[in-house]
Amino acid sequence: MGQHIVILGGGTGGTLTANRLRRMLPATSVAITVVDENDEHLYQPGLLFVPFGLAHAEDLVRPRHRQLHAGIDFVQSAVDHVDVAADRVHLQGGATLDYDVLVVASGSTLLPEQTEGLTGPGWGEKVFTFYDLPGARALETALAGFDGGRLVVNVVDMPIKCPVAPLEFCFLADWYFQERGIRDRVEITYATPLDGAFTKPVASRALGGMLRSKGVTTVTEFNTGEVDGAGGKLIGYDGREVPFDLAVVVPLHGGAAFVGRSPGLGDELNFVPSDEHTLQSHARPNVFAIGDAASLPISKAGSVTHFEGEVLCENVRRFLRGEPLDAGYDGHANCFIETGFSKALLIDFNYDTEPLPGHFPTRVGLPLLRESHLNHLGKLMFQWFYWHTLLPGRDIPGVGSAMPHSGKREPAVTEAMR
Ligand SMILES: Cc1cc2nc3c(=O)[nH]c(=O)nc-3n(C[C@H](O)[C@H](O)[C@H](O)COP(=O)(O)OP(=O)(O)OC[C@H]3O[C@@H](n4cnc5c(N)ncnc54)[C@H](O)[C@@H]3O)c2cc1C
Repeated sequence: MGQHIVILGGGTGGTLTANRLRRMLPATSVAITVVDENDEHLYQPGLLFVPFGLAHAEDLVRPRHRQLHAGIDFVQSAVDHVDVAADRVHLQGGATLDYDVLVVASGSTLLPEQTEGLTGPGWGEKVFTFYDLPGARALETALAGFDGGRLVVNVVDMPIKCPVAPLEFCFLADWYFQERGIRDRVEITYATPLDGAFTKPVASRALGGMLRSKGVTTVTEFNTGEVDGAGGKLIGYDGREVPFDLAVVVPLHGGAAFVGRSPGLGDELNFVPSDEHTLQSHARPNVFAIGDAASLPISKAGSVTHFEGEVLCENVRRFLRGEPLDAGYDGHANCFIETGFSKALLIDFNYDTEPLPGHFPTRVGLPLLRESHLNHLGKLMFQWFYWHTLLPGRDIPGVGSAMPHSGKREPAVTEAMR
């Protein structure tokens, strides 16, 4: 009898895993099924550009099933829960899928209703998010009509997808209001639960310096307890208040709700605790997790998902053959950070090495932790790579799963940090 791999979620991780595994394993003996609740694959990094009129929402979405190669079954249905003890997925509506290996690739879910007042009065009028498509679209209209006042960008709590995206929003807002000639009428504030601009010290100093140089005020260690849309203020748990005329909020994130309905699978946030090097879940040996769905000490990002894919697929193959797993994933993450004026910064890091200055992927290449036009072009090119290289499960030439060390240098005091 053949073997069956079931992949829950057909986003970045589910799609690249399915396509990669389809190439690695014979279709005659291993069936692959991808389950997703809808058929619209959204290029999420593009959401950043929509509010500023730099991307059109309709260009970011493609049919999900079309990204899956021949020989992969696509089931459009919501997952209700997984019975990990019985190796069985229960879909909403009652159908079931039995599996030999399960890959949880169900991403992260926005939970705006978990913050008091966030979706109350003012939501969609002066309180927005750009983390989903309707929100990004609505914010485009709101920004176009904003002629001055206090703009606050707020991260409610970590973890969030792409932790640099709210910083990019601040940088682009600075650019956008300069372009419109009203920058002097707009106060931009970044309110973050972190003690600096980013989680890792060298990058945090560099990015904090950039926020200052662009006239963005940073409010650190701010844990949003309430959003008072009518009164126009964020209220922290410690009683501090941040007033606004327009708030751009990145809501709390959790894993998919079905993870919480699947005994033994997830943690208290519904993410799936997994081995940080093999990506095998702690729930059961035949359950793996990729991308945002996994609880790992690394950013939730498409690049992370892509780099995990190589090791995860190899381990699924090994598991099916009864071989020892490869503990090769090193936590590699790589992010372009758009800084406005057609420039961007690049950071590259892993579990052990924080983002450092230098060049990527070798001594010659894109500048790290430094603004450049080349990095901006890289950011724009990423969309093409996403549809044509990442999702099909191919490798990016010259960029492997493991983080490259050559080209990185321990920082003296870099220009950006001054
Ligand atoms: C504004 C923004 C900017 C970003 N910028 C970048 C960037 O510049 N670089 C970068 O690397 N990353 C970026 N990201 C992050 C990146 O998009 C995600 O980390 C990546 O898509 C994660 O892939 P995933 O497969 O884990 O989850 P997803 O791609 O989100 O896929 C999860 C899938 O699971 C499905 N699903 C969930 N629950 C169920 C259910 N119950 N039943 C059936 N299906 C279900 C969903 O429909 C979805 O299709 C950004 C994200 C945002 C929001």
